[in-house]
Order: sequence, then structure tokens, then C-alpha cells
Amino acid sequence: MTAKIIDGQKIAEGILSKLKDKAKKYDEKPGLAIVLVGNNPASEIYVGLKEKKANSLGFHCERFNLPEDVKQDELLNIVDDLNQNKKIHAMIVQLPLPKHIDENMVIDSILPHKDADGFTPVNLGNLVNDDNRLLPATARASMELIKSTGVELKGKNAVVVGRSNIVGKPTALLLLQENATVTICHSKTKNLENYTKQADILVVACGKAKLVTKNMVKKGAVVIDVGINKVQGKIVGDVDFDSVKEVAGYITPVPKGVGPMTIAMLLDNTLQAMELHKKIKF
Ligand code: NDP
Repeated sequence: MTAKIIDGQKIAEGILSKLKDKAKKYDEKPGLAIVLVGNNPASEIYVGLKEKKANSLGFHCERFNLPEDVKQDELLNIVDDLNQNKKIHAMIVQLPLPKHIDENMVIDSILPHKDADGFTPVNLGNLVNDDNRLLPATARASMELIKSTGVELKGKNAVVVGRSNIVGKPTALLLLQENATVTICHSKTKNLENYTKQADILVVACGKAKLVTKNMVKKGAVVIDVGINKVQGKIVGDVDFDSVKEVAGYITPVPKGVGPMTIAMLLDNTLQAMELHKKIKF
């Protein structure tokens, strides 16, 4: 068996093209602010891609580059200004932040209806409540890619490897909403393969290059590889693509899988945020 490749890039382009048309119907541009602290090379690349795509859709995009040693209060003031800025409907503060900054405090200072990444406690709480107003972009991306296969989720075994607040946990909750039976694995899980082998749907988001190999995957499974790891100058996922594609039914590549879909979902969240602003009087 050779898995069908889930072409995240192509699916994302389709979504972006619809988003561009939808945005044109409004009398104002969806406004996205991107805040980057420091010079983390990976973050610079992600932020650059997000900015480029936002501009290509005709969104209003403002980028703030702050030095690595920026004071927490200064960053909080910038977020506060963006919270008040009428041209900005949504913002992201690119993670990770330097160690001297309390990441939770910064995220918590973003107004929930301007939270493009869906990371604020209010939006994560909404998700627990099955209210999908602004969802974490990567979790949304993973779900869209799973749904693109047409595979029924109801009653299926879904396994998520990774329990971060931004990827693993929200993805697990979205799978639960679709009536899958969900297991979350993490670094303390014993005999990981006992769980992954049961998975009809396997989402891997652990940041460990090629951790999941062929012998850990059920025949015909849908495998979503969220991981981005640099190994000898090459970007690879958390799944050993070449071996796993021999047993899986569907698989996402890295790159051109979850990555481009995450950006599409982030920009869709931005438009959703603008729509929310129109509905809610502040
Ligand atoms: P985190 O480091 O926050 O979380 C990693 C999770 O994986 C933790 O829950 C950890 O467990 C678990 N884990 C680590 N090692 C193992 C292991 N050997 N077996 C099982 N579980 C393990 O990472 P993120 O969730 O932020 O990101 C995960 C990956 O996805 C990274 O490679 C990241 O670069 C990528 N990513 C990609 C995006 C995209 O757009 N494609 C967007 C965001 C992230 P524990 O909790 O016990 O420590």
C-alpha cells in the first residue's frame, strides 16, 4: 500500500483564494498585526511567510520587530495599543518569547476577539465548551486536512502525540467534537507504539524528528505530521515519511503539509475576527 499524499499546499491555496474574494466584499481591510521579539531564525521565517500571505490577500498587515531584550512592560504596552487600534482586527505574538518574558501573561493580555492564534485562555475555554469562535490555527489546519480525506471520524480511534496548549490539546478537543475516541500521548507515555498502532487517525506534534516509524502505524491510517525539525539543513517532520507512507492510507508531507494550512487558518481567523468586531459592540 502507498498512502495518498494530502497536499496541504494545494488545499491551503484553494482556501486562500476564497478568502481573498470574501475579504473584497467588505468596506474595510481585515487588519492583522504580527509581533516578533528577537531574532529566532525559524520565527523570522514563519513571520515572513504570514506577512507575505496576508499582504497577497490584500489584508492590512502591520509588523513589529522588537529586540530580544525588550522589557515585558514595553511588549504589554504594544499589545495594549493593538487592542485599541481600530485598523487591527487580530494579532499574533510569535512564540516562543525570550525567557525573561512571561508568555502566559502576554497571551492573556490580547483581547480574545483579536486573538488570531486562538491561544488566549478565553478562546481555549470556548473550545472546551465546543464554541469554535477563534481556534488555534494549527489545530484547525490539522482538522481541515483530516476532513479533506473524506474519512468518517465518528467512532474512530484518534491518537494525538503531543499535549501542548497550542497544538496537541486543541487538536484532541476538535477530534472529540467529531465523535472520535481520542487518546493523547506525551513524553511520559510508555510504549507509545501500543497507542499509535490503534490509531485510525494519527496526529503527531511532538517536535522529535522522524519519531513515528512504519511499525508504529496502523494500515490505512490517516497520518497528520505537524512537526517541523531541522536535520542536517533539511526540514523533516515527526513522522518518518518514507517508511510510513508504505502503510498509511493518507499522509501529510513536511514541508507542504500542515505548515501552509496553518497560515491559511491564521488568515481565516483574521477575517473571522473582523466579522466578530462587526457583530459585537465594544
Ligand atoms: P511543544 O514542545 O510545546 O510540545 C511537544 C509535545 O510533544 C509535548 O506535549 C511533549 O510531551 C510531547 N513529546 C515530546 N517528546 C515526545 C516523545 N518522545 N513521545 C511522545 N511525546 C513527546 O511543541 P508544539 O506542540 O508547539 O509543536 C510540536 C511540533 O509541531 C514542533 O515540531 C513544532 O515545530 C511543530 N509546529 C508546527 C506548526 C506548523 O504550522 N506546521 C505550528 C506549531 C508547531 P510533554 O508534555 O510530556 O513534554
